[in-house]
Amino acid sequence: MNINNDNSRGKESGQKIIIGIDDHDSPVAGCTTHFSTLLIKELIKEKIKLLDFPYLVRLNPNIPWKTRGNASIKIIIYSERDIDELADIIWNKSIEYTEKISKSAKYNRKPGLAISNKDISDRWFYEKAVKDVIPLNLAIEYAKKQGMIIKGDRGIIGSIAAISYKPKEFTYELITYRPENEWNKNKREIDINSVIEFENKYFPYVFENIDYIKKYLLISPHGTDPILYGIRGIDANILLKGLNEIITNDKIDMAMIFKTNQATDDHINSFSNYFYQTTEIEGEISKIDNIRGGDVIINVNSSTIIVYKETGELNIASKLLKVGDTIRVVGAVKPSVKYGKIIEAEKIEVIKLNNKIFKNPECPKCNGSTESLGKGKGFRCKKCGYRFIGEKKLKEIPRELTLGIYQSRYYRHLSKPIYLNLIKENNLNIDIINNIIKYLVNFKNMYTYS
Ligand code: ATP
Repeated sequence: MNINNDNSRGKESGQKIIIGIDDHDSPVAGCTTHFSTLLIKELIKEKIKLLDFPYLVRLNPNIPWKTRGNASIKIIIYSERDIDELADIIWNKSIEYTEKISKSAKYNRKPGLAISNKDISDRWFYEKAVKDVIPLNLAIEYAKKQGMIIKGDRGIIGSIAAISYKPKEFTYELITYRPENEWNKNKREIDINSVIEFENKYFPYVFENIDYIKKYLLISPHGTDPILYGIRGIDANILLKGLNEIITNDKIDMAMIFKTNQATDDHINSFSNYFYQTTEIEGEISKIDNIRGGDVIINVNSSTIIVYKETGELNIASKLLKVGDTIRVVGAVKPSVKYGKIIEAEKIEVIKLNNKIFKNPECPKCNGSTESLGKGKGFRCKKCGYRFIGEKKLKEIPRELTLGIYQSRYYRHLSKPIYLNLIKENNLNIDIINNIIKYLVNFKNMYTYS
């Protein structure tokens, strides 16, 4: 096979083609990853070869018009077909899926595709899409400049971003899909103990599949979409073992392994302050309040940070912070009726604890506690009433918090868990990847759960 990596369309019999897909789901049915897996199954019949696993590319998690996790897909293939002909085949499949399955028009979804036969040399568009908000006309202009074929509507933003994604570091997710006649079931029957066992056995090569505190599965959605479960990890071979080790009473109709930017922290914008971006700020706490309902409001560098009760350990830790502590906060910048602009914290690093405070001196007569009589006017003992001139003393106070990073328990696809070592390279060759993918698109399970 002669893979044409340069831009000379049609010069050789086959060429590398990169496909970006987005917005093929709706709140009631379908899912962009599911469409891409079906598409790969079809493309294999067309005798294409995959040049890598498909990529599941998460984009800005704060985009208001996303359905769920703001996912887009990149598929890299080697094909003998002409790129325009291939684009038409894929677009027809896309229309079929979005009309029949996700019913996009009814739910105001705006599916899109981008197709290119050249690699984009930089990650600019991806970086912008994962960190910021991109207008559709900017995306169209960019695609034209890059010579991409684009089809559809707003989904082309995510599709172009997926094409422009080249991982520096990545993780994997193995997703299993239910047969169509079972999509109406909201509840999935997965044996939680088998998932705990799986994670205990392979941790830290698999991660964030269980909320151990609430004894709650993080691998399954709860809606009427095709996904049965998705398990996250950094070793494709270990994830494959999950297909047999995770016990479910639900049928699996097919599965796929995606290479993904999940858990990479790629969404963080250092020190930005625009709405719908994920920012990072560092400074000393000037004010902190526990508000009714359990949320905590913290002021740092004139920014208002909110640490929601739902963030679990992060909220508990933030209640132990004090004025004068130095923290670094990562969170989404959102509009707020009450505060104008808030940062919803997803991670807080405690950099310095203010464990010293100035205290009034003790009474020199009876050692009682004293109150200040005003600046330069001395102190009065609260016990014996003795008045004296003295100075405030620096005292150390015990703190129940240690330096370090505290993270939200609420799972966010792009947030990097503190313990995770990301990977930089696939250790699998293309033939092995193609064999795995063929196995997965045809995978069916048996009922093993009792
Ligand atoms: P699923 O996870 O099931 O695929 P989703 O949450 O990914 O659903 P989409 O249906 O993909 O939601 O909708 C996201 C939409 O937002 C897409 O049309 C995509 O092109 C667009 N989009 C993604 N990132 C940005 C961005 N940074 N700026 C503007 N639009 C964006």
